[in-house]
Amino acid sequence: MSREARGRRRSGSLYRNGAACTTQIRGEIRGKLHAETIVVGGGVIGCAIAYELASRGKEVILIERARIASETSSAAAGMLAADSETFHTTVMSMLAYESRKRLHQQKEQLELLSGIEIGLQQSGFITPFRNEAEMKKYSDSRRSTVLPTEQIWWDHSKLQREAPWISKETFGALYRASESELLPVNLARAYAGAAQTMGAKVIEGVQNVSLIADSSGIQGVETSIGRLTCKHVVVAAGLQGGEILKQVGLNLPTLPVKGEIAAIQFAKHDADYRPDKTVYADNVYIVPKANGEVWIGATSLPGRSDREVTVEGIQKLLASAAGWVPGIQQAQFIRAWAGVRPSTPDGLPYLGACKCVPGLYTAFGHYRNGILLSAITGSLMADLIAGHSSEELGIDELRPERLSRKEIMQ
Ligand SMILES: Cc1cc2nc3c(=O)[nH]c(=O)nc-3n(C[C@H](O)[C@H](O)[C@H](O)COP(=O)(O)OP(=O)(O)OC[C@H]3O[C@@H](n4cnc5c(N)ncnc54)[C@H](O)[C@@H]3O)c2cc1C
Repeated sequence: MSREARGRRRSGSLYRNGAACTTQIRGEIRGKLHAETIVVGGGVIGCAIAYELASRGKEVILIERARIASETSSAAAGMLAADSETFHTTVMSMLAYESRKRLHQQKEQLELLSGIEIGLQQSGFITPFRNEAEMKKYSDSRRSTVLPTEQIWWDHSKLQREAPWISKETFGALYRASESELLPVNLARAYAGAAQTMGAKVIEGVQNVSLIADSSGIQGVETSIGRLTCKHVVVAAGLQGGEILKQVGLNLPTLPVKGEIAAIQFAKHDADYRPDKTVYADNVYIVPKANGEVWIGATSLPGRSDREVTVEGIQKLLASAAGWVPGIQQAQFIRAWAGVRPSTPDGLPYLGACKCVPGLYTAFGHYRNGILLSAITGSLMADLIAGHSSEELGIDELRPERLSRKEIMQ
């Protein structure tokens, strides 16, 4: 780390002083309207890209219409479930493993540069079963999973020893030791803060972003704080990514999938009943967080983009969770929230360069794994901007213009 960065680090997180910092940067930007790359969207994906570019010494401005991590990234459970999730392609599975590894590698540097703890914990996940038939059905359904996952079988007695808080009715469970989880808002803010420390500009509250492109490619963006020129624009606007791309005639649909989560807390005298590993079951997940809470999620409602929390949704989640961890009945209810996952017609994110507009890149549509995939997305986007092709990077199946007209219309 440079002496300057260490000095800034000592004076506290730049991002934590958000408001003042943003105002100062706005002033600077008005006088200096160019950066090599502009990233549109300050969710975990945009922030990871800004961090990676800044760490490679590139000039980058990140613009966010509201606040950092104010949309889907603030709703996530923060699981890095590379082994437990079912990915439909080998490429996505490999990216997930690589990204989880990188998040562990980045932790120290991120926390040091930003002054924000990301709450990363590797306590492992268990996938429990009520009986043998259930376990067999699960194994069969994952036979098509492209990469073998790292897991061991815990029978009833081993499970009771390792996880005494789990229901006595549980037949057994698969244990995955490398699975981890973190605090997603902190991760996005840490990426943004660390990027700033390394020279990136992060500007919140930037409205009315429109892409400026001519026959030679992208020229910059017009915004509520003026025109910003650049060589590259990365659209990392999550669910709204597709709307922005329409400005240059590209149709990359995003499909909303709403999800609700509840947070609970165990009293000190009930600590023995608190799970110390994530329970990743078929109908619910239960995630003990570094901030002392336990998060229980999540409903999945395709086509819904509202953020209302329903009694029905939370009731179902809590009942399912108490079925696995009975002590939850005695825990204190803290709060509940909802967010909207950005999915795509084929379930894959749009990651790559837009062939029809040179200099324009997309990084959105991470559906239910954007927190997990943030580190690798940042790295891949920086590689693409540096001139590597999607084919070279092995991510051609994620290129933005891959969908047929039929898939788009579905
Ligand atoms: C209930 C739930 C649970 C989840 N659990 C997990 C999990 O455990 N693990 C996991 O890996 N993932 C999880 N996810 C998925 C994860 O949250 C998303 O994949 C991820 O947050 C997407 O990040 P993003 O940066 O693409 O989008 P966002 O976080 O939505 O960020 C996009 C940003 O772009 C900004 N923006 C939009 N339009 C513009 C514009 N015109 N100009 C400027 N800025 C703009 C928005 O304000 C927003 O801040 C979960 C999601 C939900 C809803």
